[in-house]
Amino acid sequence: MNSAKIISMDRQYVTNTYARYDLAIRGGLGAVCFDFDGNKYIDFSSGIGVNSLGYSDTGWVDAVTKQLFKLQHTSNLYYTEPCAVAAKALCERTGMSKVFFANSGAEANEGAIKTARKYSRDQYGPGRHTIVTLTNSFHGRTMAALSATGQEAFHKHFDPFPEGFKHAPANDLQGTLAELTDDVCAIMIELVQGEGGVVPLDADYVKGVYDYCAARDILYIIDEVQTGIGRTGALFAYQRYGLAPDIVTAAKGLGGGLPIGATLFGEKVKDTLGLTDHGATYGGNPIATAGALAVLDSIDGDFLANVAANGEYLAARHYFEKTKEKQLNTDEFLLTLL
Ligand code: PLP
Repeated sequence: MNSAKIISMDRQYVTNTYARYDLAIRGGLGAVCFDFDGNKYIDFSSGIGVNSLGYSDTGWVDAVTKQLFKLQHTSNLYYTEPCAVAAKALCERTGMSKVFFANSGAEANEGAIKTARKYSRDQYGPGRHTIVTLTNSFHGRTMAALSATGQEAFHKHFDPFPEGFKHAPANDLQGTLAELTDDVCAIMIELVQGEGGVVPLDADYVKGVYDYCAARDILYIIDEVQTGIGRTGALFAYQRYGLAPDIVTAAKGLGGGLPIGATLFGEKVKDTLGLTDHGATYGGNPIATAGALAVLDSIDGDFLANVAANGEYLAARHYFEKTKEKQLNTDEFLLTLL
């Protein structure tokens, strides 16, 4: 095999939904990957935030392969050690109370949306089901996650979309509070909008919305699919804002390269989903959760301090100033690093 053969086969047989570069990756080690023609690349994108420990981290590979030899899967009618231990580690590292494991970020957000709706119905009866998200947000590609996504470009082709979502202006406190009407059960935000252009939310705005929601029992959901697992110098970005969210969603870097999603529940909603309310065949899969455990074990204080130091280095190169002037897409962002 060589790159040309792989690319032409992919173009013929794989659905053409990605604007792929002309590059087939053969393998990788640490921050570097290789193609089939002997070229070497530094991967600034980490598989879009997934390879949280880089390529082929030895501790992660060891944990995953050891688990492979023990148990690759069983149904969720039984308990497994990696699932229970990974959930405990996530709760202990975050102050959250329970975890639902899924397979992707969109699915983790679906779990958050369902929980918010059910919590509100249980407490207040029907009708209080609207979920507010922010303009320029991105929450995934399932139908409900597309509805939640605050970008018009994602609201075409597939209608009718699920109802019960509305969008508030990001970083505009009064504008956001005005959308938090009596029919609203939750707000879902990204603390740094990722797909929307790498836009951090202002701390005052985040806290203002949080206090307003807490006083009205409007659930505060933070989508940390992009910002979680150490990417901002804390395990989750919300830990830098001093918040105690009701629901946090994670995916991407949590598995270190294996498909996983997680919906983390705070005390108030930890038992909102009961028997048969939710499920996923692969949710909590032993291999994926063994990978997640290896990731969580590696992301210790030193690791996070290093991320924070690198973040300061990037900020010193005026990256944040540049994004304020103009919202950057991923390609433009990479150019700012050169
Ligand atoms: N939420 C955010 C903030 C994301 O950035 C993404 C993906 O980029 C998703 C959700 C969807 O995650 P997934 O592609 O794993 O479904």
